[in-house]
Amino acid sequence: MASNLEFARFPAPDGVNGWWESLPPPSPASKISSEHRYDWVVVGGGITGLCAARRLAELAPGASIALVEADRIGRTTAGRNSGFFVDLPHDISSESYSRSIEEDQADVRFQRHGIDYVRSIVRRHNIDCDWRDDGKFHASVNAKGEAALAHFADGLARIGESFEWLDQAGIGAVTGTDFYRGALFTPGCSTVQPAALMRGLAATQPENVKVFELSAVTEIEHRGNAKVLHFAGGRIVANQVILCTNAYAATFGMHPNGLLPVYTFASMTRVMNADEVASLGGARSWALIPADPMGTTVRRLITDRICVRNHFAFRPGLQVSQADLEKAKSLHQRSFDRRFPMLKGVELEYTWGGPLCLSANNGALFGRRGDGIFEAVGCNGLGLSRGSASGKLIAEYALGQSSELVRQLLNQPEPRWLPVRPIVDVAVSAAIWAKEFSAGAEL
Ligand SMILES: Cc1cc2nc3c(=O)[nH]c(=O)nc-3n(C[C@H](O)[C@H](O)[C@H](O)COP(=O)(O)OP(=O)(O)OC[C@H]3O[C@@H](n4cnc5c(N)ncnc54)[C@H](O)[C@@H]3O)c2cc1C
Repeated sequence: MASNLEFARFPAPDGVNGWWESLPPPSPASKISSEHRYDWVVVGGGITGLCAARRLAELAPGASIALVEADRIGRTTAGRNSGFFVDLPHDISSESYSRSIEEDQADVRFQRHGIDYVRSIVRRHNIDCDWRDDGKFHASVNAKGEAALAHFADGLARIGESFEWLDQAGIGAVTGTDFYRGALFTPGCSTVQPAALMRGLAATQPENVKVFELSAVTEIEHRGNAKVLHFAGGRIVANQVILCTNAYAATFGMHPNGLLPVYTFASMTRVMNADEVASLGGARSWALIPADPMGTTVRRLITDRICVRNHFAFRPGLQVSQADLEKAKSLHQRSFDRRFPMLKGVELEYTWGGPLCLSANNGALFGRRGDGIFEAVGCNGLGLSRGSASGKLIAEYALGQSSELVRQLLNQPEPRWLPVRPIVDVAVSAAIWAKEFSAGAEL
């Protein structure tokens, strides 16, 4: 008999998510407050869980499905990211975003599968989430960044992907700042208001999906062929369970599984007034990724706000401190001031953090665990496109379907096991520090 699965870490507020705050108040949450029975339970209402529950419902319209989320859908990591649905190779632990040709091509197939799925849902249900198929800019600020982009461009050319070079004036005309020396534009990336997308995906689930929020699973008990999921307010007895809890699935100490909860942080400005918008110039909306994966991501939003993201911190306790948030905000302010000297006085209104789920070898967990529970965990920093695809595909796999992409996921490496704490803490924090130091001017 498999042992029970206990949940030790739960989502924490981790600052104030500007995407969530700039939406109208949500409708009241349905919480687990008694005993329920469902054929399927999907745990985790991020992008992976939202796609898994929907796909189950599409393929098994007669099945009863519960999607359970510890917090509000849209307020946790899937609704607090920078909103890039990245289609191309994007290994944030590499120097140039890309790896080998085969791995890169496999990534592209997989990520586009996820993007196409979510785009089709957004269109079908008219989800109001500022979905844009406008591509992204990879921008450099110095010769080192230019060399990294040239390397990235070589990789893209090798796998037959299109891109376009912009010189300093070209990227300046888009962004309104002369901070960047040049950029490489790739057309296939989509961007969103992530909290609005997650809410919209939850609100438009098929009828046989019941969404529960503010309902954290504390334990999954194996009882015969059934699974009993325990919550503070009640229980669900289920035939099958799919875990989509990403970083919250990371285990350490006696049960290391190689998943690393590494936080990254973002800030969003207040809405700029007409004079500030005029002094910035450039396009009304754009999305930019730094040449160095550890540099600063910037988005100008159609709402006349600017969102910046940088800084990483290994936080195995799945929570950041006030000091972490203050440090992140001061780094964001510095990055903002360097790029936008014409916007002095435009304050950062919101600052927040959220956990990525990284592994040392870009491995992820996909499939059926030894205890019969299905899982799709381990976004490696690209959860929007990868989570969409792996959520959809885990549902297909759990219902017995196979495909080239399912096989690709089953054959991917598992996250490489790491030394136990505190050795891993020191090693990961030192690696992050070294990479951030090396990113230098791109921050
Ligand atoms: C600042 C920032 C910027 C980022 N930018 C990007 C970007 O531009 N593009 C991109 O692709 N990725 C980005 N990411 C990463 C992206 O947000 C994640 O990869 C993505 O959210 C992973 O989706 P997921 O559904 O797998 O996991 P999550 O979004 O983490 O969802 C897991 C869910 O499980 C829930 N949960 C956990 N434990 C329990 C429990 N016991 N019971 C019930 N529910 C539980 C959590 O509350 C959470 O909602 C960024 C992240 C951050 C923090």
